[in-house]
Amino acid sequence: MVEVIGFGIAGACVALQLQRAGHSVRVIDDGQAGSSHVAAGLVNPVAGRNFEPSWEVADAWSVALPFYEELGKDLFQHVPIMRLWRDEKDHAKFISKRDQLEAWIEKVDDEGVTWKGGGWLDCPAFLDAAKEAFLKGGGEWSDLPKGGSQIWCAGAAGLLREDFANIVHRSAKGEMLTVKVPEWNERRILTRNGWVIPIGKEHYRVGATYEWDDVTSGSTAEGRAKVEALLQSFTACDYEVTDHVAGVRPIINRSQPVLLNQDGKGWMVNGLGSKGVIYAPRVGLEMVERI
Ligand SMILES: Cc1cc2nc3c(=O)[nH]c(=O)nc-3n(C[C@H](O)[C@H](O)[C@H](O)COP(=O)(O)OP(=O)(O)OC[C@H]3O[C@@H](n4cnc5c(N)ncnc54)[C@H](O)[C@@H]3O)c2cc1C
Repeated sequence: MVEVIGFGIAGACVALQLQRAGHSVRVIDDGQAGSSHVAAGLVNPVAGRNFEPSWEVADAWSVALPFYEELGKDLFQHVPIMRLWRDEKDHAKFISKRDQLEAWIEKVDDEGVTWKGGGWLDCPAFLDAAKEAFLKGGGEWSDLPKGGSQIWCAGAAGLLREDFANIVHRSAKGEMLTVKVPEWNERRILTRNGWVIPIGKEHYRVGATYEWDDVTSGSTAEGRAKVEALLQSFTACDYEVTDHVAGVRPIINRSQPVLLNQDGKGWMVNGLGSKGVIYAPRVGLEMVERI
């Protein structure tokens, strides 16, 4: 029996991939909402300021997309991502790197560059679908460990608690808003210093902040003000804030997942950073190979 501790996106993918490979699996989750419960689910092949494709994104996404589609046809929404120019210097940086980015470019115009292959995963719906599939496949769910080899997928909670010795991390709190903007008909995902994702029925997700010093304080007025300023950098339309959440991104080596085996403790799968949706299904497969 393999025990997977933590059922965020990492634990869900590890548990399902192990089950599909024929292992008997028990999940132990403490029911505390981790960052997967608040994540916006954005998949952006070329995120960040410097027009760098995400690490091994083509390979990781070729595993992840069919994995999500098999669990539910509508879990992942394909939506064009428009990376707006910040200024002339930013535009010039893109032009100097354009040759390395061709595979991801849909269109370039005065506003910015539209990337191919992006969209967003409905993370809470994914966790529900993954749990249902896991239980249907004969998986066991328990409040407490009962014995077996252990795989810790405890996210930032585990890193902050130091479940595994010697793991240096830079976990970062993020705050995000859901807003209703009735007069804005934007259908694309927009990114610049942050992002806005249209999620339907006049609603958008907008975020997110990065905070390294005080990661446990939850949603704050300061975080909300920062995200509202981000929204206003994308649209002048009136809006209403309908939700405000905070979570902690588990960051060890940027957003590259880390698998570690420690004598006496078992395995750890962690460090999905800001890009859990891209990497979790492939890290589940890697765990199958290693166990
Ligand atoms: C505001 C915000 C926005 C984000 N947006 C995106 C995005 O758009 N795209 C993207 O790819 N990523 C995004 N992320 C990052 C994403 O959330 C993480 O990469 C991912 O959720 C990490 O998943 P995880 O399973 O490692 O951790 P978690 O989701 O934290 O899951 C860990 C689970 O383990 C449980 N647990 C912990 N300790 C124990 C224990 N001792 N016993 C039992 N259970 C335990 C917890 O309760 C939790 O359920 C965002 C993060 C934040 C904070």
